[in-house]
Amino acid sequence: MRIGIIGGGIGGTATAYALLRQGFDVTIFEQAAAFGEVGAGVQMTPNAVKAIKGLGLSDKLLRAAFYPKAIVGRNWQSGRENFRIDLGDEFRRHYDAPFIHIHRADLLDVFATELPSEICRFGRRCVGVVQTETGARAEFEGGETFSADLIIGADGVRSAVRGALFEAGDLRWTGHQCYRALVPTDGVVDDVNPDSTFWMGPNAHVVTYYVKGGRMVNIVAVTEASEWVAESWSTRASRDQMLADFAGWQPTLQTLFARVDEVYNWGLFDRDPMQTWSKGAVTLLGDACHPMLPFLSQGAAMAIEDAYVLATALALHRRDLGAALQAYEGERLPRTARVQLEARERGRTYHLPSEEEMAARDADYARRAKEDPRTTGINTDWVYDYDPRAFARALAA
Ligand SMILES: Cc1cc2nc3c(=O)[nH]c(=O)nc-3n(C[C@H](O)[C@H](O)[C@H](O)COP(=O)(O)OP(=O)(O)OC[C@H]3O[C@@H](n4cnc5c(N)ncnc54)[C@H](O)[C@@H]3O)c2cc1C
Repeated sequence: MRIGIIGGGIGGTATAYALLRQGFDVTIFEQAAAFGEVGAGVQMTPNAVKAIKGLGLSDKLLRAAFYPKAIVGRNWQSGRENFRIDLGDEFRRHYDAPFIHIHRADLLDVFATELPSEICRFGRRCVGVVQTETGARAEFEGGETFSADLIIGADGVRSAVRGALFEAGDLRWTGHQCYRALVPTDGVVDDVNPDSTFWMGPNAHVVTYYVKGGRMVNIVAVTEASEWVAESWSTRASRDQMLADFAGWQPTLQTLFARVDEVYNWGLFDRDPMQTWSKGAVTLLGDACHPMLPFLSQGAAMAIEDAYVLATALALHRRDLGAALQAYEGERLPRTARVQLEARERGRTYHLPSEEEMAARDADYARRAKEDPRTTGINTDWVYDYDPRAFARALAA
């Protein structure tokens, strides 16, 4: 089967690798001149690490990883601890994988450096996809075309493939914008080291965590905004504005923000879950079909799980594309829809506006911690528990 992938982000490169491993003839098309990722961190939760293990790349991943000790929730002003999920040996044993932090470029490299150069076509911007008698054809700016048995749209939140396939509708402006920055540690934030820390305050929250072996702190600082006017969804922002937006927050954060050199502003968009992702010989993957708020740290994780499941389904239904795509969607659509909707809901609970609501939420965290520590705080037991390798086992049985 000849397969074309549009988009060489984390989802597209993971899919290209997963399909090559299953013996498919793959070509990947990226609009940029090379594979590349923004200078920021990403949290890889156990479910994603299991998918990468299933692809045989976990040693490579873990060599570039930072291992946080715990996920900790803190009060925005006092720094008081509101919940703690320990990420030590018992956690790793329970989920059969660790929770790690990694620089996005290092994560992309895990997949991209496995791809032979002859299958990677750069500077190709896809502008349309059409069904043909024998499969599908991707069309690129400048007139180039590529025909294949299957075209996979892994071209991100503003997917051209999705636009060609379905009534796309507008992206949903979620009312959130976030600052992103990386700061060298130099011991300045020892009191949060080495945790993944959620600072929750009125109408805003901040997540801090370590990447690059603990040499850098990654900051994601989310506020609410009535509209997003910038053309791009990743633009340069000002440190002073960031400090002003978080005036009165815990001194550790103020110290950290004051050390920021470069800060970027992102408007956060998502979509409602779709009913289907495939038409004929074209399907979608990653942010192209299920863009989500980053509040459960799952967008890249979902794209990697998709990659593993899609390659598995295609390998087990080599002569029946319809059955393969049905198996892929049957496994992935309900899960990603739940993550999309629960990530939206976290946008509300992380940002409760009054002291009373925050106190009630924090009391609920404490109650759940007593019942089952894995379900406290951000409540992600059901996300981490998923093992995409179980899909492969079930399909093969
Ligand atoms: C603030 C923030 C924090 C996040 N934190 C986490 C986290 O901790 N953990 C996690 O798992 N996820 C996180 N995410 C989500 C994650 O970044 C995305 O979900 C993930 O990168 C999606 O990967 P993708 O490959 O589907 O899309 P993308 O990364 O958008 O890649 C799409 C690729 O397609 C290319 N492309 C686009 N259009 C075309 C075209 N027409 N023709 C050819 N090429 C094209 C692009 O250049 C790009 O290379 C976060 C997101 C944000 C905004």
